[in-house]
Amino acid sequence: MLLIGLTPALDREAGRVFVNGDYLNAVQRAGALPAVLPMTEERAVLDAALNRVDGLIFTGGGDLEPACYGEARLPECGESNPVRDRMEWYLMARALEKDVPILAICRGLQVLNCLLGGTLYQDLPSQLPGQVIHPQYDLPRDAVHTLQVAEGGLLSRITGQTELGVNSRHHQGIKKLAAGLRPCAAAADGLIEAAELPGKRFVLGVQWHPESISEKHPEQQALFNAFTEACKG
Ligand code: MN
Repeated sequence: MLLIGLTPALDREAGRVFVNGDYLNAVQRAGALPAVLPMTEERAVLDAALNRVDGLIFTGGGDLEPACYGEARLPECGESNPVRDRMEWYLMARALEKDVPILAICRGLQVLNCLLGGTLYQDLPSQLPGQVIHPQYDLPRDAVHTLQVAEGGLLSRITGQTELGVNSRHHQGIKKLAAGLRPCAAAADGLIEAAELPGKRFVLGVQWHPESISEKHPEQQALFNAFTEACKG
């Protein structure tokens, strides 16, 4: 059975390192074995993980430190976790070098974009107000806005859809798309919510949470299925 590593989140107050069960269920439905990684920046541990896993899922979480994309912190930017920032930065850079398949979700897409030289809106409600309300944390399993899917892109090939209804649990998003990333879908306000890195076995980032709607929506489960298929190599 394929082994899929997942980066965890930290609940500092409760002292818990965790992933939401939806990620594990979506990987399991795709026929693979999910493995939650520890919260560590120790390179020997991360290298060992990279040598074992067949693919990596970078999960959602808190805000990336704006210094990662060369900006000063705005008051609206949330608290960052330096250990997680450094852990995911290293893990993703090494995974790209080794061509380990990557599915980058929410914060994961943001890490991917910044690692490759892009930037982020630190707070969409204040920096890109208007048409679309992106932070809708109280509706985790509802399609709260739509995306236009780019024709011929990886997301279009996986889902077979030209439009996707998505949940939206983010207050940050891609400001400048990294050179090298190809946009796969955008919201009505122009925000790029999915991007792929062509030339690799599988590198796809999505800004929404497909794991939370993939039980009921086959086109969302298809992301996990296509990812694990690519992990077979
Ligand atoms: Mn959104």
